[in-house]
Amino acid sequence: QTEAPSVIGASSSASTSKDGTSADYYFNSYAHFGIHEEMLKDTVRTKTYMRAIYDNKHLFKDKVVLDVGCGTGILCMFAAKAGAKQVIGVDCSDIIEQSRKIVAQNVAETGLPDVITLVKGKMEDVVLPVAQVDIIVSEWMGYFLFYESMLDTVLVARDKYLAPGGLVFPDKATLYISAIEDGDYKAEKMDWWDDVYGFKMSALKELAYVEPIVDCVDPRQVVTDAIPILTIDVQTCTAADLDFTAKFELTSLYNDHVHAFLGYFDTVFTHSHKPLVLPTGPEHTNTHWKQTVFYLRDPITCKEGEKIYGELRCSPNKDN
Ligand code: SAH
Repeated sequence: QTEAPSVIGASSSASTSKDGTSADYYFNSYAHFGIHEEMLKDTVRTKTYMRAIYDNKHLFKDKVVLDVGCGTGILCMFAAKAGAKQVIGVDCSDIIEQSRKIVAQNVAETGLPDVITLVKGKMEDVVLPVAQVDIIVSEWMGYFLFYESMLDTVLVARDKYLAPGGLVFPDKATLYISAIEDGDYKAEKMDWWDDVYGFKMSALKELAYVEPIVDCVDPRQVVTDAIPILTIDVQTCTAADLDFTAKFELTSLYNDHVHAFLGYFDTVFTHSHKPLVLPTGPEHTNTHWKQTVFYLRDPITCKEGEKIYGELRCSPNKDN
């Protein structure tokens, strides 16, 4: 999350990292309530999960449910209200201490069924109180779908605990790519380093090009078609599928300049009564995932109907 540094700065000493490794940094960034506030207030995100669970009570009734990365426990509570027999939430962040209080309060005050068990620890390391679960729910998606690589954790949980025929919510995700005209913002973010109070700062300009920018893009900036470059089936995929190279071919819709490629994703709950989609593209209501912009050093000039051929390589960061 781009917000992580300020969240770390604001977090309490209870969640201070011991040795300052990236793992401590990542998990502690979820200890502060601010990041959970942002996710919970993302109504597209949270209401889609809510609908996927509440509208499918026939699937959740009397089932054992595992929530991988439960955070505040919101998905556990949805599952409990939908009639699950037992719900286990796992999270390695200190937020889970608050989640225990949240669950207890709702059992006492709002009639939440007393079926939730929260387990603190990394999903990869914990031992659950059950051998198998019927359903896994998880909100694992990061910027450009894969940032944070949390899907790997869901796959570990699936392979270890999901009963044969068990369901994963959500179970499909598709990554899309298109291209945008973005001259003004590119000038502001990139060319700006060419003259900083009379000095050149090309070293920082280089870094700015290397790092994709997460931001909301106006759909009118999109100048090509948008094509799916990868669909994953969370029920069956392996960690190796998340390290991929995809060739793509975009078609220009106008005579215009392309300054950047644009990436975003849809997540789908196909086990739902009617398939439920959580879209994050520029033409939809913005979510906290926004879109991801990859700037080109040199813009491409396109005529309507012309093709842009590209290749995208995506792999987990080996050090983090
Ligand atoms: N389910 C919550 C929180 C989603 S954010 C909601 O929908 O609001 C993802 C959560 O997963 C974070 O709280 C993070 O601490 C946790 N997490 C990430 N990787 C994990 C891992 N390997 N083991 C346990 N928890 C993990």
